[in-house]
Amino acid sequence: MIQPERLHERNAVPIAGPGRFVLYGMQQSQRAACNHALEYAIREANALGLPVVVAFGLMPGYPGANRRHYAFMLEGLAETQRSLAERGIRFLMRAGSIDQVVLALAREAALVVMDRGYTRLQRDWREAVARAAPCRVVEVESDAVVPVETAMDHEAYMAATLRPRIARRLAEFMVPVEEVRPVKSSLRLRFAGPEVEINEPMTVLNGLRFSGGPGPVSGLRGGTSAARVALEHFLRFKLHHYADQRDDPAGDGTSGLSPYLHFGQISALEVALAAREAWSGKAADVFLEQLVVRRELALNFAWYNPDYDRYSGLPAWARKTLAAEAGAPRPAMYDRSVFESARTADPAWNAAQKEMVATGRMHGYLRMYWGKKILEWSATPEEAFETALVLNNTYELDGRDPNGYAGVAWCFGKHDRPWPRHPVFGNVRTMTAGGLARKFDLGAYVKRMEAL
Ligand SMILES: Cc1cc2nc3c(=O)[nH]c(=O)nc-3n(C[C@H](O)[C@H](O)[C@H](O)COP(=O)(O)OP(=O)(O)OC[C@H]3O[C@@H](n4cnc5c(N)ncnc54)[C@H](O)[C@@H]3O)c2cc1C
Repeated sequence: MIQPERLHERNAVPIAGPGRFVLYGMQQSQRAACNHALEYAIREANALGLPVVVAFGLMPGYPGANRRHYAFMLEGLAETQRSLAERGIRFLMRAGSIDQVVLALAREAALVVMDRGYTRLQRDWREAVARAAPCRVVEVESDAVVPVETAMDHEAYMAATLRPRIARRLAEFMVPVEEVRPVKSSLRLRFAGPEVEINEPMTVLNGLRFSGGPGPVSGLRGGTSAARVALEHFLRFKLHHYADQRDDPAGDGTSGLSPYLHFGQISALEVALAAREAWSGKAADVFLEQLVVRRELALNFAWYNPDYDRYSGLPAWARKTLAAEAGAPRPAMYDRSVFESARTADPAWNAAQKEMVATGRMHGYLRMYWGKKILEWSATPEEAFETALVLNNTYELDGRDPNGYAGVAWCFGKHDRPWPRHPVFGNVRTMTAGGLARKFDLGAYVKRMEAL
């Protein structure tokens, strides 16, 4: 069953028209499994006696994305193409943004299905498709466990306001997605116009132009299989310690799933169901708090706050208190290039930055410290906000995600409450290196990162 709350009619064309196929414009949910949008497209196609075609727009200049992100994404898409082909579904990749690619094909489609995305550009693309497609357009939400508008119809102030709403609806939405067999194969359908062959992802990558930015991360492959290996490993060896070890950057106690979730290579629902099945106690509850409540708090932020990626999107109390500290002397002051090249006077901060640049990841606990210190050591909070966002989005494999926007904003007071006043931070919560050292073996971590 696909819950009706996941389905959104996007235009005024009530029923499917004539056409050669049902078209699924894949963008957010880049996978062939546990994908409500794909299964909805197959069901509708079966009812119409038509095949399903999955289209993907390969857009070279996706804002903020670089070779690191594209390599990971393309590896995942190559696997998605193979998995879809095994189900008799044609994956058609073309150069261009998803709205351009879908609209060019929509002329021959009986119905267009889009998956739901949460950021500004993703929403603009879906709007463009809805406005111009000559056929019915349905948007299907598959990357939230509880759909964002079902959980709450306005912006959540903090996790405490969203948590009970999610809890109330969780049982209804935490159910597996039933896979349907397509009655008609689309593998032999022919299309006029150039297509990007995804069989060799590195060949596709080498054909794209990038102006700077980091290279691919070694030793971490994109794709649903790699995501499932990471999930399996996490469930077997880490989940039962998660509550105690997730805040220890010197250990390896978290799932490492965020890049796969970001590219939609694995569904949060699949992860949640597997975690609940593997472990029913506190460990699973603590993990689901992150995977469902915290992650969906970030989706809520991106969905309801038009300034989710701007300083102006911070709460008024936070901007006011930070403005009042404008003249407060900073203990150190660095510009973006010093931060980027990890040349601050703080070995812990530098180690975290080095880890991110070299590996495309940084432990969640350190991300908080990292962002707080950028605020403390920048000339203005506005400059700090920009620095944190740009570095996060450039180097993190999971960057450019609602989680990243919410995470950076949290360092500046979002989804938090006012704390006792502190220079530079005002009433925004601080973090100190002393606090880090009390939590874990900071020296061992710094040594490990210096070796990178
Ligand atoms: C400054 C800052 C920047 C961040 N940037 C990003 C980013 O660009 N992309 C990103 O995905 N996350 C970001 N986060 C949130 C969080 O740090 C990461 O999601 C987490 O560290 C990913 O590691 P994991 O998959 O091993 O997490 P696990 O601990 O295994 O958690 C499982 C999943 O739960 C979700 N999750 C965990 N912690 C959070 C959180 N605090 N907020 C929202 N969702 C959470 C993620 O989807 C994660 O993959 C940021 C946090 C901060 C403070």
